[in-house]
Amino acid sequence: MSREAFHELKQQIPLLDYLKAHDWHPARRLSRGRVMGLCPLHADHKPSFLLDPGKGLFYCDGCGRGGDVIRFAELYHQVRFPQALSLLRQWLGSAPLVQVAADLYRMQLHGHDDAVAYLNQRGLNSAEVIEEMRIGYAPGGCLRRWLTQLGYPFESQRQAGLVTAAGYDAYIHRIIFPLQGNLYGRSLSTSAPPHRFLPGGKDGLYAWDQVRRYSEVILVEGLFDYAALRQAGFRNVTCSMGNHLSAHQYRQLCESPRTVYPAFDSDDNGSGQIAAQSLACQLREQAVKARTVTLPAGHDPNSFFVHGGNACQFQSLLEAAQ
Ligand SMILES: [Zn+2]
Repeated sequence: MSREAFHELKQQIPLLDYLKAHDWHPARRLSRGRVMGLCPLHADHKPSFLLDPGKGLFYCDGCGRGGDVIRFAELYHQVRFPQALSLLRQWLGSAPLVQVAADLYRMQLHGHDDAVAYLNQRGLNSAEVIEEMRIGYAPGGCLRRWLTQLGYPFESQRQAGLVTAAGYDAYIHRIIFPLQGNLYGRSLSTSAPPHRFLPGGKDGLYAWDQVRRYSEVILVEGLFDYAALRQAGFRNVTCSMGNHLSAHQYRQLCESPRTVYPAFDSDDNGSGQIAAQSLACQLREQAVKARTVTLPAGHDPNSFFVHGGNACQFQSLLEAAQ
């Protein structure tokens, strides 16, 4: 990459925009346009991350790290310089496109009875929660045509992972949950792999911005678990999309003192329980309280509610958590 191209990439991605897109918000404004906030690179308890948006530079008093947007991407995604560059280029190209695709999928949901029936079967029937989570449906076979009509070149559709190299939609017969810069697609068909993400990973905890202010946070594995709890009236819920947390998700849980209630699947093979226990131990090492929730055998929070469980009963499980 030439010096010019390198400089141009930095110009195209203001550090503050990139940080905001990764769930970061300034806590305090300082002189000359500078801002302070919690450090996204370490478990920060008081704002020690200083950002100068004009210069595109950051410095953290807590972990002593600093630099430009490329250095930030290296540290944040824990990759080397060349990978950081390609992640940034990919982010630059695909963020708006992913948003447009999510909007198109949302419009499709109510035209497809099989998709709505699937949501109902998974116990998800609150129009409010479906709207809040911006849930959509990918029937397959239409995204490429739409995006092309809207003027997006095939190459950017492919680079964003929305369309395959052969020109087919990547998401077919899937319920779509928009995430931060990504889409999670749950297959309706049993013959396809159940879970699918766009390249680039799941990034942070789901809807973390709405949850981070709570001193008690329920952590679930799946977005259908999340939806079931939201429907039952729990607001302090987040989701890690799998029972293994990314380094970033882990830092988010540790950013301020709180009690975390991992409510992972009660699998026959015990993998959910083992993951919850090991997470609880790691959190305690960071002085974050953790109380693991034990669900009835074979259940996850979603199936707990689908099989007649109510908010009161789930509340009892939280109170009994150890
Ligand atoms: Zn730091």
